[in-house]
Amino acid sequence: MRKRVVILGSTGSIGRGCLDVLAHLSAEWEVVGLAAGSRWADVSEQAQRFSVSSIAVTNGACPEDLKSAFPKSARLFLGPDAMVQLLDEVPCDCVVAAVVGAKGLSATLRAVELGRRVALANKEALVIAGSLLIPLAKRTGATIIPVDSEHSAVFQALHAGKRSEVRTVYLTASGGPFRTWTDDEMDDIRLEDALRHPTWSMGPKITIDSATMMNKALEIVEARWLFGLAPEQIKVVVHPESIIHSLVEFRDGSMIAQLGTPDMRTPIQYALTYPDRRACPSQALDLFSLRCLTLHPPDVERFPALRLGYEVAARGGTSGAVLNGANEAAVELFQQGTIHYREIAKSVERVLSVHECVESPTLQELLAADQWARHEVTRCLVC
Ligand code: NDP
Ligand code: MG
Repeated sequence: MRKRVVILGSTGSIGRGCLDVLAHLSAEWEVVGLAAGSRWADVSEQAQRFSVSSIAVTNGACPEDLKSAFPKSARLFLGPDAMVQLLDEVPCDCVVAAVVGAKGLSATLRAVELGRRVALANKEALVIAGSLLIPLAKRTGATIIPVDSEHSAVFQALHAGKRSEVRTVYLTASGGPFRTWTDDEMDDIRLEDALRHPTWSMGPKITIDSATMMNKALEIVEARWLFGLAPEQIKVVVHPESIIHSLVEFRDGSMIAQLGTPDMRTPIQYALTYPDRRACPSQALDLFSLRCLTLHPPDVERFPALRLGYEVAARGGTSGAVLNGANEAAVELFQQGTIHYREIAKSVERVLSVHECVESPTLQELLAADQWARHEVTRCLVC
């Protein structure tokens, strides 16, 4: 019997990469559910191509001209709870959580509640609610396998030793498009500059997060939850070539790294097939074509967002929800042209600094903190 997979966020960059991988693995895997936000035309084309009969779309109703494009037997789940309803009603072996942002949290939580294997790209869910998701997975038997390239690399490298033997985890960072920009040049950053990532092709929100290095701050918190690390065990190293995807240093000084071309289809596929490995559609790395690989420490003065990742990883409680909510709100304002690039990290820092952190929060408290942070970012614009 083929394994059954549901893809949440199938129309996005990770979702499309996942379908590419699954087209190669179709003898072993079957797509039984797709979910998207509002790209009806894309999701209907995917449903036809992969003969998927359960589709969730959270925004809007199906346009008349697309109704006939879905397979005849298709069940459509609509509205804000559509993804959770689909998960409840469609049995599967793996859920790919690839919705961007806090919008993916409720469905990720439900996938974990149902004890599924979760191939997790939606890092924001862990940043907000890692304190709930990780213990919940232990209770339900759900397995969370990271899709994020750095965390996939760490997950793979950790197989070389025992958890108690880990000294440091090094998360690599490309440094983003502004790595070599001077302070003066950074004053003139425009949206289109921030959307031009030097090595990875990704959706707009994570591309902007990479430009501020907030993405790495979120990944520090993600690593803290996924691997149960203390913040001081997590280090960031800038590696512009994006070939070494991360490293684990064990207590004997051995460092184990995972290398590959910067193509998300490799970690997506590994999250599906783990513990097995299959041939992958991504291009193999040609070691002899690499002239040199560079590694250097991050510039925390020019990229202040990084500090916030450590602060939140140490503080826990509702601070992750605040970091993420404030960042999502600030990124939206930057995309609308309301604030400058530099205001993104500044706004998040300001909001975090006035937040009264709740220790051991409930889901309701985390969601309230998320809403408060978003509101606070906008309120501060006029104060
Ligand atoms: P994209 O912007 O390309 O895609 C986002 C997906 O989320 C789309 O399918 C979109 O649907 C869906 N979506 C958005 N809002 C909703 C909603 N309210 N309900 C249901 N679906 C919704 O993002 P990426 O693929 O780049 O990123 C996805 C996640 O993976 C993020 O958390 C990101 O941090 C993480 N990630 C991405 C990497 C990458 O290379 N892209 C690398 C590592 C991690 P629609 O378009 O139809 O509205
Ligand atoms: Mg990453």
